[in-house]
Amino acid sequence: MNFSSRLLEQAVDEFGRLPGVGKKTALRLVLHLLKQPDAEVARLTGALTTLKEQIKYCQACFNMADHDLCEVCSSTKRDQQTICVVEDTRDVMAIENTNQYQGVYHVLGGLISPMDGVGPSDLKIEALVDRLKNNEIKEVILALSATMEGDTTIFYLYRKLKDFNIPITTIARGISFGGELEYVDEVTLGRSIATRVPYEREGIKQP
Ligand SMILES: [Zn+2]
Repeated sequence: MNFSSRLLEQAVDEFGRLPGVGKKTALRLVLHLLKQPDAEVARLTGALTTLKEQIKYCQACFNMADHDLCEVCSSTKRDQQTICVVEDTRDVMAIENTNQYQGVYHVLGGLISPMDGVGPSDLKIEALVDRLKNNEIKEVILALSATMEGDTTIFYLYRKLKDFNIPITTIARGISFGGELEYVDEVTLGRSIATRVPYEREGIKQP
């Protein structure tokens, strides 16, 4: 791409770094923003700056939050003894959208992936173990995607948690789960949470 302006090129480069945004889309977005009133562009950049500066991670579950505890963890209506383990904040949003789950969450911040150099210590796994040690938990639901990384992480977590003698369940991971939790429709996801099964019985291939 030949740019008539270095400033334009710089802005397009920055947008083009975002996931799923190619150079053409980046250019379209930048040209669109240029046409907007200053106040509107300032609102966008302000929202991003404020987000980056002020976003917090819940001290209990590591979900993104505005306060030290997220809305789920601080709610008296939630069952604090059931923990649903998920990969990231998008999964929390997907499960919340189903309105089928009354427990709390634990956000790992990723999945074990040796190929990408992500090991157990890069995730909030010890923090999960601490939660089980320090609280009376009656069930841990492993709601991770049906991928190799998801399976590896589930198996690792299972070995780590089994001695607590707390029921460990997984959501149904049948053919309707093409991949990541966030893409599963709400009805299917809601049903799979309601009909979760003990981990051992499901016969997931153990890596
Ligand atoms: Zn929380």
